[in-house]
Amino acid sequence: TTQGNYRIYYTRYADQMEADMVLSNYLISHIDEAIAKGWIKVYYQPIVDTFSNKISTYEALARWVDPQYGFLNPFQFIDVLERGHLIHKLDLHILELVCRDFEDARKKGELSPVVSVNLSRYDLELDDLHEQINAILAKYGVGRDQVRIEITESALINNSEAVIKDHISRFHEDGYLVWLDDFGSGMSSLNSLQTFDFDLLKIDMAFLRNANERTPIILTDIIDMAKRLDIKTLAEGVETEKEYDFLHSIGCVLTQGYYFSKPLPRAEVAAKMRDRGLMVETAEEHNFYREV
Ligand code: C2E
Ligand code: MG
Ligand code: MG
Ligand code: MG
Repeated sequence: TTQGNYRIYYTRYADQMEADMVLSNYLISHIDEAIAKGWIKVYYQPIVDTFSNKISTYEALARWVDPQYGFLNPFQFIDVLERGHLIHKLDLHILELVCRDFEDARKKGELSPVVSVNLSRYDLELDDLHEQINAILAKYGVGRDQVRIEITESALINNSEAVIKDHISRFHEDGYLVWLDDFGSGMSSLNSLQTFDFDLLKIDMAFLRNANERTPIILTDIIDMAKRLDIKTLAEGVETEKEYDFLHSIGCVLTQGYYFSKPLPRAEVAAKMRDRGLMVETAEEHNFYREV
C-alpha cells in the first residue's frame, strides 16, 4: 500500500539521517587524530597551460582515508568541519603537507611546480590566518611564489567587503597570488570582479558540465572581459578534447579537469603527467610559472 511504502521510505530516510549524524560527530571528534596519524592526504590535480601544453600548477585537494569509514571525499567532510568551526585545521594541514612535498622535492634535487590550496570562508575569520600561513611556508623553506591561494566565490557573500579586501591586500603584500574559485556559481560574480582584486578566475565547472548553445558565448565573453581587466582565467571541469580545443581557441590559458587527470597522490600524478609529456622540464619554465 501507499502507506506501507511511505513507512519504508521514511524509515530509510531516518536511518540515513542517523548515519550522517554519526559520521559528522565522528569526523568532528577525530580531526586532530586524523591529522596526527596521517589519515588526511593531499591529492593533486594538474592545471595545464593550453598554449605551451605543459602543467603550470597543481591544485591540492583533501582526502580523508579513515581506518573505520574508508576513503572519504571532500563533500563528506568539508561541510561538517565548516559547521564545526574546525575547517582551518584541515586547510592549514593540507598546506603543511604541500610544503612537506616541496621540501622533499628540493632534497631530491627536483624542481617543483606551483601548487594552489583552498581556503574556506571560515578561515577568513581567523585573526592570525596570515601569520599561520607564512609560518608554515617558512618552516619548510617554501617561497610564497610557489603557492596560490584559492578563495571560493561563496566566501565573498559571507564576509564583509572590507574584510575580504583586507585579506586580499594582505596576501598580495606578503607575495601570494589570490585566485577566485568557482567563479560564476554565485549571485554576485560581476559585482565581485568590480570590487575585489583577484589575480585569476577559476571558471566554475557548471558552465562546461551543463553546457548548452549559450555556453560558448558566455565563456568567450568571460575570458574577454577578464583579459581586459588584466585578470587571468582558468576553466574547471574540462573533460574532453573538444572542450580543451574550444577553450584554447577563445584564449583561455589555463584548464583543469579529468581530460588530463583526476586528483591523484603526488607520485601517481607525476608519473602519469610524465607519460603524457606534460611535465615542465627546465628551470626557466618553472620560474615562468612562479610569476603567473
Ligand atoms: P574545487 O576547489 O572547485 O575543486 C575542484 C573539484 O572538481 C575537485 O573535487 C575535483 O576532483 C573536481 N573535478 C576536477 N576536474 C573535474 C572534471 O573534469 N569533472 C568533474 N565532474 N569534476 C572535476 P573534490 O576534490 O571532490 O573537491 C570538491 C571541493 O571540496 C573542492 O572544489 C573544494 O571546494 C573543496 N575542497 C577540497 N579540498 C579542500 C581543502 O583542502 N580545503 C577546503 N577548504 N576545501 C577543499
Ligand atoms: Mg579549488
Ligand atoms: Mg572550483
Ligand atoms: Mg592583476
